[in-house]
Amino acid sequence: MKSSAELRTIFLDYFRRQGHEIVPSSPLVPANDPTLLFTNAGMVQFKEVFLGREARTYDRAASSQRCVRAGGKHNDLENVGYTARHHTFFEMLGNFSFGDYFKREAIGYAWELLTEVLKLPPERLWVTVFKEDDEAANIWLRGIGVSPERFSRCGAEDNFWSMGETGPCGPCSEIFYDHGPEIAGGPPGSSEQEGDRYTEIWNLVFMQYDRDKEGRLSPLPRPSVDTGMGLERLAAVMQGVHNNYDIDLFRHLIAAITALPGVQNQEQTSLRVIADHIRSCAFLIVDGVQPANEGRGYVLRRIIRRAIRHGHVLGLRDPFFYHLAQPLVQEMGEAYPELVRLQSQVERVLKLEEERFNETLEQGLKILEQDIIHLSDGVIPGETIFRLYDTFGFPVDLTADIARERKLSLDMKGFEQAMARQRERARAASRFSEEYSAEELQINLETEFIGYEQLCAKGQVVALFC
Ligand code: ATP
Ligand code: MG
Ligand code: MG
Ligand code: MG
Repeated sequence: MKSSAELRTIFLDYFRRQGHEIVPSSPLVPANDPTLLFTNAGMVQFKEVFLGREARTYDRAASSQRCVRAGGKHNDLENVGYTARHHTFFEMLGNFSFGDYFKREAIGYAWELLTEVLKLPPERLWVTVFKEDDEAANIWLRGIGVSPERFSRCGAEDNFWSMGETGPCGPCSEIFYDHGPEIAGGPPGSSEQEGDRYTEIWNLVFMQYDRDKEGRLSPLPRPSVDTGMGLERLAAVMQGVHNNYDIDLFRHLIAAITALPGVQNQEQTSLRVIADHIRSCAFLIVDGVQPANEGRGYVLRRIIRRAIRHGHVLGLRDPFFYHLAQPLVQEMGEAYPELVRLQSQVERVLKLEEERFNETLEQGLKILEQDIIHLSDGVIPGETIFRLYDTFGFPVDLTADIARERKLSLDMKGFEQAMARQRERARAASRFSEEYSAEELQINLETEFIGYEQLCAKGQVVALFC
């Protein structure tokens, strides 16, 4: 059985043999790119190269990129613990062509690696292309000989990839693995796709355009290739398990959590959420993010607090999260020496944050329980959400996470109104420039709402979980 670490090496070695430069992972905080919260794909460090604004000494590259998807355009925070395939932190294996090869070679490499090097049975692999992309369809059906039964054309939602609201983008072709009939879920492109039976493992993006602020597409100087395959999803396939959280790395992390003193139960979702979150939190700290009340730091704080709350579900009452840095270093330290170097800093930051939140968590949970008992409509009132947020430091997504477990929804409109009233009060009370305090609060509000736009628009919590 191949370990995650071995699979990373197999991938990079394969592309080295195909003339690719192996480029180290860039940090999670993108350099000089305010359009992006965190590095969310392997192509991020090559954005300027795709746009033709930066030249490299190579025109094909491969990497294993650490990624975080917990805010902004790609946000999987709400999926963690609920799907078999999503993490906030994951590693994306990728190969890239900067105006060198295009669709034919990209598809050929992916197919060869999966079916010949890794020896996956072709009848387990399903393929999609963008519905207008006849060229890619021809390559798959005629060139590779994929069965039309396992091939479909999809719309822009799934098969037109963009890094963010602006920047490089293009049609893509995705490869899925069929985990078998014992797992729920319909084939790619079908209406009953819910479930993880057919898991997307690799996305081949044919970078052709640059999208500007107005949404207009202009052709890139040289059509390029950007691919991304989740290492953890590949590991699940190669290790014969149907859930990413059952791969070697996560089994070890989950074992470390269950071994913590004070653990009272084995609640699956909480174990998985914590195992996921220690990775994103540790790596964000390694890459220089500190818990804060706004921006990237607030996303980190939200993830830490979610992890602590899930620890509470397991019965843990004392700071525990920072103890997981050690098992994480054991799993990933070899591939990421910076994690080893900064382990004690990670522990310090997490412990401090845990101590702070522990002061209000218990009390806040009590308030919430009291308010929940009296609910007749299954909707947590905006005032409660606001009080938890304002007095007890519960980020809204944390309250939403609890609501989800209880099958309750949130009155987000009421929350917004309570928030607006608070802003009014702060403005009235401010002795300083009015503009200044309003502006400050605005920043907080915006950060708080990363990922909640849909939630607020629809006024119910369900939208969070799409
Ligand atoms: P999905 O549809 O499953 O959410 P995606 O289409 O959003 O995946 P891409 O943006 O195409 O994913 O990213 C390329 C690859 O990265 C995916 O094919 C998958 O293998 C992996 N990947 C994406 N998001 C995650 C995640 N949250 N956790 C683990 N792996 C991921
Ligand atoms: Mg996704
Ligand atoms: Mg997808
Ligand atoms: Mg995809």
